[in-house]
Amino acid sequence: MSQNNGNGNNHHDDFLQELHNPDVPVPENMRSAVAVTSFTKLLDSIYNWGRRNSIWPMAFGLACCAIEMIATAASRFDQARFGMEVIRASPRQADLMLVSGTVTKKMIVPIVRLYNQMPEPKYVLAMGACAIGGGPFKEGYNVVSGIDKYIPVDVYVPGCPPTPQALLHGLIMLQKKIDRQSLGNPNSTPWYGRGPGDEVPLPVLGPDVFDPRQVHVLGRQAKAAQAAADAPEAEDTTA
Ligand code: SF4
Repeated sequence: MSQNNGNGNNHHDDFLQELHNPDVPVPENMRSAVAVTSFTKLLDSIYNWGRRNSIWPMAFGLACCAIEMIATAASRFDQARFGMEVIRASPRQADLMLVSGTVTKKMIVPIVRLYNQMPEPKYVLAMGACAIGGGPFKEGYNVVSGIDKYIPVDVYVPGCPPTPQALLHGLIMLQKKIDRQSLGNPNSTPWYGRGPGDEVPLPVLGPDVFDPRQVHVLGRQAKAAQAAADAPEAEDTTA
């Protein structure tokens, strides 16, 4: 079973070449059938091959970008080619959070809660200008200026809206990122063998939304602002 990749080779040959340790010489006529590799590299490629071709996204359609996301899953663009057609409504069965659309301050709280409920390894794709940085509503009174201020984003797909082709490109980039993760390198697989990770604190929705991790910075800024406001009064008293 081989597929031409457009360069005269096929995917089977590419896979063997990637797997092969170039320090070990193999005769030219055997290179399409033999690869010499380490156990870790072989394990990584099997592990990552399984994960990259069975990513289950959690749909998070928030605005117009969601229509393009839906089109990507339909027959013309056929996300199923990448093993990603099982779009889940539950965070507990999803690997990838697809944030597509405008993230309002009201919605950021459930988004972070759902992110915390996803099992590791998990990935986030920010689709469209709104999810990436607020888009046309940036600094609007009710819009978050980028989902990455709250949860880690793995792939950004720019556009307003991005086309289904752009989203597919982003999903392929995610597959390439997964391919580079290695069980032998704990920095690239932080979830592996370390128990549950830290939860992202839920943003607090008050007069404005704020990130609890920034509370000491906000406290300092509030004190400085109060001191600046009190300063003229102090001067007046001494005068
Ligand atoms: S990026 Fe553009 S198309 Fe996407 S949700 Fe924002 S306004 Fe709509």
